[in-house]
Amino acid sequence: MHFLWYERSRRKFRDRVDQLIVAKNDFKRDRGPKTDEDLEKATGNLATILAECLGDLAFLTEYPIRLVRDLTGVRNRPLVALRTLRIMGDHPGFKQEELTYPLPLMKNDLYIEMGADDWIPLYPFLVPRNCPQCKTREIYFVDKWQGRVSPATFKSFERGHTEEESGVGLALADWQPHSE
Ligand SMILES: [Zn+2]
Repeated sequence: MHFLWYERSRRKFRDRVDQLIVAKNDFKRDRGPKTDEDLEKATGNLATILAECLGDLAFLTEYPIRLVRDLTGVRNRPLVALRTLRIMGDHPGFKQEELTYPLPLMKNDLYIEMGADDWIPLYPFLVPRNCPQCKTREIYFVDKWQGRVSPATFKSFERGHTEEESGVGLALADWQPHSE
């Protein structure tokens, strides 16, 4: 991601993302193409940009994102047995997979699998929660955060619903020294 975002030769990726943001904002505010011809042209152009962005991000599929649903010890072994959901695709029925891991993990947190025994927590940046409005699980990203003492506002990918949580705000504050 760092390479895509900062590498000069990959400037194109940032330009493409900028164009997607402009198109989405135009759509939300009823701006953008109006005539049939303009719409057709803009749609074709967007389809190309989206396909290129997905191509740039294809490497992500090599590193599964897993949601830890349950865990327990493995008798006489220094391992935990995990029941996970593989977070892939846009269908809410994610595939269940059972795996072992050498360290305890947090139940209901998301992890990205860099290697067999090398999982990186995605908390507090991506957080699965049961949406109080929809009564189903949604995955939230940090939308706003005003600093150490404030809760973070996060928004769901699925429906754009927002939630506030002080725990996420505190965890973000803990992250700051790492990023410096
Ligand atoms: Zn919802």
